[in-house]
Amino acid sequence: MSTLVDYPTFSESPFFFDRRNLHIPQEEAKHIQDHSKPTVSYYFPKDVGNYHYGERHPMRPHRLMLTNNLVLGYGLHNNMDMYNPRKATEDELREFHDADYVEFLKRVTPKNAQQLTKDYTMYNIGDDCPIFHDLFNFCKQYAGGSLAAGRKLSQGGTDIAINWSGGLHHAKKGEASGFCYVNDIVLAILELLRYHPRVLYIDIDIHHGDGVQEAFYLSNRVLTVSFHKYAVDFFPGTGNLSEIGSNLGKHFAINVPLLDGIDDESYISLFKSVMEPTITTYRPSAIVLQCGADSLGCDRLGTFNLSIAAHGECVRFIKTFGLPLLVLGGGGYRQSSVSRCWAYETGVCNGVELPKELPPNNYYEFFGPDYSLHPPLSGHIQNLNTRQSLERIRVSIREKLRYLNGAPSVQMQEIPPDLQGFLESEERKQEEVDEEMNNGTAGEDRSDGPQKRNEYFDLEVGGDGHGASGVEQQTSRGKRTIRF
Ligand SMILES: [Zn+2]
Repeated sequence: MSTLVDYPTFSESPFFFDRRNLHIPQEEAKHIQDHSKPTVSYYFPKDVGNYHYGERHPMRPHRLMLTNNLVLGYGLHNNMDMYNPRKATEDELREFHDADYVEFLKRVTPKNAQQLTKDYTMYNIGDDCPIFHDLFNFCKQYAGGSLAAGRKLSQGGTDIAINWSGGLHHAKKGEASGFCYVNDIVLAILELLRYHPRVLYIDIDIHHGDGVQEAFYLSNRVLTVSFHKYAVDFFPGTGNLSEIGSNLGKHFAINVPLLDGIDDESYISLFKSVMEPTITTYRPSAIVLQCGADSLGCDRLGTFNLSIAAHGECVRFIKTFGLPLLVLGGGGYRQSSVSRCWAYETGVCNGVELPKELPPNNYYEFFGPDYSLHPPLSGHIQNLNTRQSLERIRVSIREKLRYLNGAPSVQMQEIPPDLQGFLESEERKQEEVDEEMNNGTAGEDRSDGPQKRNEYFDLEVGGDGHGASGVEQQTSRGKRTIRF
């Protein structure tokens, strides 16, 4: 059963709409400079940008179309392996989510919603998390992207995997929350845990990564670190310094609660001084980075002052540790900023420097009046974080990190015995085995180079929402228990 709480909701925030100024596209700048060459895999579920939460809802999946257009416009598809992942199966969703909740998501439609209003309370459906057309396929698509990315990383098939449609960090085991229905991050981390003894989760969305923290709150195999705004009237109302995990997971949750208006310099300084000792102490073998873009300045729901360059600097810094890295999206409610940010960070992942001028693309009118990759976003909100308050947070977290030394998980072997047994007991689909051996695509369409480019631009895709893989795929995994 879910419980009703009085936490503030997203819907209390004012909604705004994009001002679309038509401008003539400028000359494309074509200089992309190579710095280093990690293998990067880019997952874009083909239809995921075509869903609509509702006319006045601030979450716009359409931002993914803008992002993809900029990524392709900059020619980044020439640097990466591009995938149209298959949808997650119901079995895969049930690896974390309750069976009754998955069944509800499967059954509910805007048409039959009247008969299911009793379930609305139970599953936290409402203004923040409305029922919209083809909701379940939307969930399966973005979750399928994160799962495919996780599988690829687990077997060393790529250094970095990106799924901007993922990162829905608020969803709970048995209920929707904060625009999130299925928690693709938890599902991807569970996939990584099949092979990785310790996974580090980092969250730079302006909202607390509560769903992921809660899922692994009792575990020392996942360390969650969330940087977010913390205030009594700000969603989701959790994420204080005192939330540190419990039982085996005690000290394996870190929260960095911030106030309005934090600027580039303070944020980057704090981020690096927390993450560097966290990574060297915890020694994760894989990292998941949620890049919610509502921490940028000028966001419609967020109240930070970060520039795209500063947000991207966090990605760059984490990349320097050279660990298998899953990069996910998240919040972000000004489409023009979100898409710029994630295109820029796709460049960061690939080690290329993108020209400041945006390339011509199908949505050019969104990016006026400057048509620049780095519009001024900072300085609109008063910075309430003082040097002293940030220093107190820094010292407090450094203190907490001392408890990680000697923690059981840090002394684990490469693959813990219980997980090894679990793997042996499991049947894998042949196509997934092939994929893990790096010689298959596990039901995914792979597109190399610009010849497949049109499929990402296609806005005329038909209404069945099934993606390229078409039919529902049943796994042969059966029910299983993950211990953590
Ligand atoms: Zn957010």
